[in-house]
Amino acid sequence: MRSDMDQDLKRRAKKVLPDGVYGHESTKLLPESYPQFFSRAKGAYLWDADGNKYLDLMCAYGPNLLGYGDERVDAAALAQSKLGDAMTGPAPVMVELAETMVGMVAHADWAMFCKNGTDATTMAKTIARAQTGKRIILVATGAYHGAMPWCTPLPAGVIPEDRAHIQHYDYNSVESLEAAVSAAGDDLAAIFATPFKHDAFTDQAALDLDYARRARALCDQTGAMLIVDDVRAGFRLTRDCSWELVGVRPDLSTWGKSFANGYPISALLGSDRARDGAASIYATGSFWFAAVPMAAAIETLRILRDTEYLEHMIGLGDYLRAGLHQAAHDNGFGLRQTGPVQMPLFLFEDDPDFRVGFAWSEAMLKRGVYVHPWHNMFLCDAMTQSDMDLAIAAASAAFQEVRERYSSLQPHALLAQMFSARAAE
Ligand code: PMP
Repeated sequence: MRSDMDQDLKRRAKKVLPDGVYGHESTKLLPESYPQFFSRAKGAYLWDADGNKYLDLMCAYGPNLLGYGDERVDAAALAQSKLGDAMTGPAPVMVELAETMVGMVAHADWAMFCKNGTDATTMAKTIARAQTGKRIILVATGAYHGAMPWCTPLPAGVIPEDRAHIQHYDYNSVESLEAAVSAAGDDLAAIFATPFKHDAFTDQAALDLDYARRARALCDQTGAMLIVDDVRAGFRLTRDCSWELVGVRPDLSTWGKSFANGYPISALLGSDRARDGAASIYATGSFWFAAVPMAAAIETLRILRDTEYLEHMIGLGDYLRAGLHQAAHDNGFGLRQTGPVQMPLFLFEDDPDFRVGFAWSEAMLKRGVYVHPWHNMFLCDAMTQSDMDLAIAAASAAFQEVRERYSSLQPHALLAQMFSARAAE
């Protein structure tokens, strides 16, 4: 595998980007051999800057839902781009998209559009405060809601005042949620919850029904807003808000990543309970009203309604999970596969510093399959059973390779440093 171009780009990037690529797409916390730059993507596949091809189980961290470069979505986007994109006012597609989303998501009576998931979660927080006149926002410990000072996972540049009135509880724990609500007294503005526990570095966990119901009841009792952050899992669990699967309806839900199949748009959906608060805040952005991503979203959502994309992904996910389980077992590895099969996370037993996971991921990469050693992955509709067979065959060979190298595996230096800093906090 050649990697000259990627190395060269990394060197150049270091000079003109602060410490190279930043944020979740940086490869700093990934195995050494992972490419940083990609020159193209189509369907379920990615090509790095050196031309190496990978089956991409990361799907751009979520935006790739139907397949990269889906021709139906691209045609809708192209048609709109010939008419106009960022203009002095929104195009008619804004109303059509809002009607479409309100029609699909049971709890929603209105929609607002923005660019990134963080825009939507931050706006949800502001609207909850505007609606209730209260300050405290409860967030589950370890949950990711974006990269603004109120929620970013790294402390640099953040002052305590940025997080004033952000308090924590343990996801899925009724007891912990009740304690946090009671500590908030009469100042509770909102409870944030993800569709299921999908925190990085740890096993994923299904939503506990009692916890979801209790969150709803506590919001009803206190007047606080219940916010489901569907930015990552939206439309990958169901064609509605993810908590609709358990019959619990939030007041606000946040969406991003996938509903325009990679075109840049995110959304905040709300019920009438939060309408006045939403109408009262000032929220905007130069590109928030751009029409091309809205046209792409309308077409993506049509495809989600009219096709079996979800059932297809779940079928593939089941097949992949069973195949990997067998391959791991045959090679003597305890591979923990958690989360919904279409959003899997793979962690190894007895691997506290992730050295086995990193080595296995690198061995997968070498065989043309891009997996992530500590973040959940995503399937997309463009994947096929033969792609899953490719992944399973690569996994068998990768398990064998790691077994042979087992005693010489080393932890990843930066990751080890990060863990020890966290432990010292
Ligand atoms: N919420 C959740 C649950 C997410 O997974 C993410 C992104 N990973 C965000 C919010 C923030 O979205 P964005 O990166 O588009 O700002």
